[in-house]
Amino acid sequence: MKYVGAHVSSSGGVFNAPINAYKIGAKGFAMFTKNQRQWVAKPLEEKIINEFKSKMDEFGYTADMVLPHDSYLINLGHPETEKEEKSLNAFIDELKRVEQLGLKYLNFHPGSHLKKISEEECLEKIAKNINKALKETNSSIAVIETTAGQGSNLGYKFEHLRDIIDLVEDKERIGVCIDTAHIFAAGYDIRTKEAYKKTMNQFDEIVGFKYLKGMHINDSKAKFTSRVDRHHSLGEGEIGIDAFKFIMNDERIDNIPLVLETINPDIWEEEIKLLYSFEGKE
Ligand SMILES: [Zn+2]
Ligand SMILES: [Zn+2]
Repeated sequence: MKYVGAHVSSSGGVFNAPINAYKIGAKGFAMFTKNQRQWVAKPLEEKIINEFKSKMDEFGYTADMVLPHDSYLINLGHPETEKEEKSLNAFIDELKRVEQLGLKYLNFHPGSHLKKISEEECLEKIAKNINKALKETNSSIAVIETTAGQGSNLGYKFEHLRDIIDLVEDKERIGVCIDTAHIFAAGYDIRTKEAYKKTMNQFDEIVGFKYLKGMHINDSKAKFTSRVDRHHSLGEGEIGIDAFKFIMNDERIDNIPLVLETINPDIWEEEIKLLYSFEGKE
């Protein structure tokens, strides 16, 4: 079963996320558990948590269908100690919020070296901070997202994810999320059946599908190998529609959230329908 949905709004309260997801026919979704542009959020109140859980039940969502995303401010590989600490604390808070809401995953971008330390040092910092954060929390799974590699962002090679995972002590609590627009801009082609197979086999060899906990389903405005992160609506960008047919017919991608972060929320409902229409038709 494919859990296709979108990154829906939780403004007005986290309980609005499952409501917004259900409205567009989503079987899975992504959300922020706090304002993603602020460092500190007030703790989740009991009442809000209960309301969230009751909406999840009401609309038939379970934890494995939801891929919360952390704040864009967090950089677990920050070269400066003070900012690294700030990021770690915010990351721990986000993992705790996920657990309070009865959810499982926390999707995050690995981090950026800001041209002040080497890629290797940065990857080590990220892994070290993941280990610390997992020790401070109980059950949530840290899900590293592939990036386009814009600026000094790491995560644009499958090897980066592997190197982080290798250093994470609790392998049960680490996972990855493939963003189709990001891997494409980073130089992993998925436009034809052959290219898709090659890229996904590479992913399997280097990282392993057992770590895949979610996907972001986006077309790309940015060109192949451009290392630029710009999403587009499905079929409108440089990737084209076929890649999404391959995904919808790939059994290795069952039972994880498949989340649209495409640029026009008004057509998410149609995009979800379109994706489901590809099932069984490759
Ligand atoms: Zn992301
Ligand atoms: Zn993404």
